[in-house]
Amino acid sequence: MEQLKRQKVYDLLKVKDETLLNGQVNVKGWVRTKRGNKNVAFIALNDGSIIHNIQVVVDVQSFGNDELLKKVTTGSCISVNGKLVESKGSGQAVEILAEEIQLYGTADAETYPLQKKGHSLEFLREIAHLRPRTNTFGAIFRIRHALSFAIHRFFNELGFYYLHTPIITGSDAEGAGAMFRVTTLDLHNVPHTPEGKIDFTQDFFGKETNLTVSGQLEGELGALALSNIYTFGPTFRAENSNTSRHLAEFWMIEPEMAFYDIHDNQDLAEDFLKYLIKYVLENCPDDLEFLQKMYDNELISRLQFVTENTFERLSYTKAIEILEQSGQKFEFPVSWGVDLQSEHERYLVEKHFKKPVILTDYPREIKAFYMKQNDDGKTVRAMDVLFPKIGEIIGGSQREEVYEKLLARIREMDIPEKDVWWYLETRKFGTAPHSGFGLGFERLMLFITGMGNIRDVIPFPRTPFNAEF
Ligand code: ATP
Ligand code: MN
Repeated sequence: MEQLKRQKVYDLLKVKDETLLNGQVNVKGWVRTKRGNKNVAFIALNDGSIIHNIQVVVDVQSFGNDELLKKVTTGSCISVNGKLVESKGSGQAVEILAEEIQLYGTADAETYPLQKKGHSLEFLREIAHLRPRTNTFGAIFRIRHALSFAIHRFFNELGFYYLHTPIITGSDAEGAGAMFRVTTLDLHNVPHTPEGKIDFTQDFFGKETNLTVSGQLEGELGALALSNIYTFGPTFRAENSNTSRHLAEFWMIEPEMAFYDIHDNQDLAEDFLKYLIKYVLENCPDDLEFLQKMYDNELISRLQFVTENTFERLSYTKAIEILEQSGQKFEFPVSWGVDLQSEHERYLVEKHFKKPVILTDYPREIKAFYMKQNDDGKTVRAMDVLFPKIGEIIGGSQREEVYEKLLARIREMDIPEKDVWWYLETRKFGTAPHSGFGLGFERLMLFITGMGNIRDVIPFPRTPFNAEF
């Protein structure tokens, strides 16, 4: 077969390089469908570069290789040389008149799981190794890429530095959830101390280690030197919550800023979310339109709405008053001091304010030890950003920078000082007011794609009893 430079379907359908028209091109990809009759065959070819297929037209008589054409079935992979021409049919601008086809891989029609269209998302989760070949998951994973890129671009434009915080951690201080242990001890023959405890001094790191639940504490170390940093990496929580919003392995973006107070922190969170949503609206219109058509007919208008409206800001205390006076029956009753459930958060966002909400100044008892204590002795300078359909999408705070106050809280909460001595030292040496937050990447993906289940916005979801692929 003649060697021609491979063209991506994206380039042929979107970039539309005039000089290619009526010339010879090569495309490679996976066959979505083949139809036709004994004179002509139409192959819809997709290479993942764009949601649309390119149409390959084969004049069966002049092509003269029925044996090969027979093997070009849904799911097979081919390379096509042919002439790029303006399409006679509607639905596509250009198509390829095939001259040569090379078959890279067949896909047996009897056993190929994606032979037919319209599989349920539940079924597709069971074939996570093949689901990227569907229109839905192609769209989702392209958006996931665009969003990742936009995150780095946003921070780079603002002069934030990308800090790589560790995935294996020796501290269990964050308290954000149950952790996954990291060990090389022989589980059949675990060494013990004379007191009968597991002897972790013999483990790989000479101490207990786990997968991180958050990069924040290390992120703060970076901010108190580089001023503005962010992390963007995987985090792990062994929480056995089988919900549509929780994964055991998920990605988090955690900016941390010296000299930012809680108001600066809220401004950044709002700007950040709006920037990311706008980026996807501008750069992924075809994928969004597909998802809107298939799953959520208000998707694009909801995204636009968020970019165009100011988020409502109020205190936790005020939010509790609103919820108490709402007359709404909640599964979990509300009163000052309770942790808000997603039903409460969604009531505030979807029913009461009808736009994203930022709640601040939560009761200290339900928040982490590092949050800045308010003068009232009851609340801390926490902030959660709540989104329609999702509930909490961001959790953050101004951090406690006063050594004595932080130490008192650590002791009150029985956090072993040997685990956080290094964190405390930042308040001893050149402490500074600072703030930060964590955005759950898959929660944002849920919002932007309109998908209902967090398992469908990450390529290989990790949930209880699920780590096959
Ligand atoms: P939730 O109450 O929803 O479990 P959280 O209070 O445990 O959340 P944080 O510890 O504040 O969450 O984590 C920061 C962000 O990470 C959250 O705002 C959310 O977007 C995301 N997040 C938390 N837990 C998970 C999870 N198990 N799977 C996916 N995203 C998560
Ligand atoms: Mn949680």
